[in-house]
Amino acid sequence: MSRVYNFSAGPATLPESVLQQVREELLDWRDSGMSVMEMSHRGKAFMSIAEKAEADLRSLLKVPSNYKVLFLQGGATGQFAAIPMNLLRGKSVADYVVTGSWGKKAVKEAANYCDARVIAQPESFTEVPAFDSWTHSEDAAYLHITPNETIEGVEFHQLPEASVPLVADLSSTFLSRPLDIDRYGLIYAGAQKNIGPAGLTIVIVREDLLGQAVPATPTILDYAKIAEADSMLNTPPCFAWYVAGLVFEWLQAQGGLDAMAEINRRKAEKLYAAIDGSDFYANPVRPQDRSWMNVPFTLADAALDAEFLKQSEAAGLSTLKGHRSVGGMRASIYNAMPEAGIDALVSFMADFEQRNG
Ligand code: PMP
Repeated sequence: MSRVYNFSAGPATLPESVLQQVREELLDWRDSGMSVMEMSHRGKAFMSIAEKAEADLRSLLKVPSNYKVLFLQGGATGQFAAIPMNLLRGKSVADYVVTGSWGKKAVKEAANYCDARVIAQPESFTEVPAFDSWTHSEDAAYLHITPNETIEGVEFHQLPEASVPLVADLSSTFLSRPLDIDRYGLIYAGAQKNIGPAGLTIVIVREDLLGQAVPATPTILDYAKIAEADSMLNTPPCFAWYVAGLVFEWLQAQGGLDAMAEINRRKAEKLYAAIDGSDFYANPVRPQDRSWMNVPFTLADAALDAEFLKQSEAAGLSTLKGHRSVGGMRASIYNAMPEAGIDALVSFMADFEQRNG
């Protein structure tokens, strides 16, 4: 077996020790005589897995007791629709700040349910627009941001003040650093980047915002009903929930989110320094808005892209191709990417430049 350094944006690399534990427990989970995949979600064994995962996540993120933690399906894309349905609370306007492709999709979906207003959007997705330039609507039900745009690599390193509930799509930066949960009304994230396997979506929402979903909201998208059923209104994504729980334990063993933030900052700075220190590579994002998780970069000569990808793949550096909408390269360096993976990439980049620059 030889594992590569996997820079995929998602589904993404998982901690190797977690995968090993999954393998060890795959056929017989702790003398239950069955795999987690085969267990009733209402049985004692799975309930203990589910409860521990939630408790560990709450402790990692210091989630206040007036917030519900939901384990859902439907991906972040499902929440693009569920959020207006649940949070409009009799209003008809919601504000969106668009700093990249995913924010754009969120607005488009919300526009099916309300007057979804883009109150700030830079000309190119290379920066977070200054907070004082946002044209807040007086009657907005909530303000939606995408703190980390996975495709463009633009990240908020500060949070705006908001007089309405702040809603954040944290899909690609969840658990990369501590969060002030009480500054948000609702946060959400698909699991397949920093949490676990695809199929699970986490929503953390302030209780007082729940219970006023628009009348035609499907039961399965109604956060209040899901919360009431402890995320088991129907069969949850059990196996993904279990693996996520192992990832939470792994994060605790790394020292929690303060430790992860330090590691993530160091990893990102190392890679950006390599890009900025060369005329051969470039990243277009304003330095203070660069993502710690997704690092897009271009080669001075795009004709070399294919060769770069071929050689990097051969060197055990996998999935560095940029998103098809922006081209170039992208290194996604989530929690589970070891620092040695960054070192290997930086050293390959220097070597490639020397041979082709
Ligand atoms: N938002 C962001 C920031 C994302 O990165 C992604 C997935 N790449 C999505 C939303 C869509 O997530 P899903 O596939 O879970 O619906």
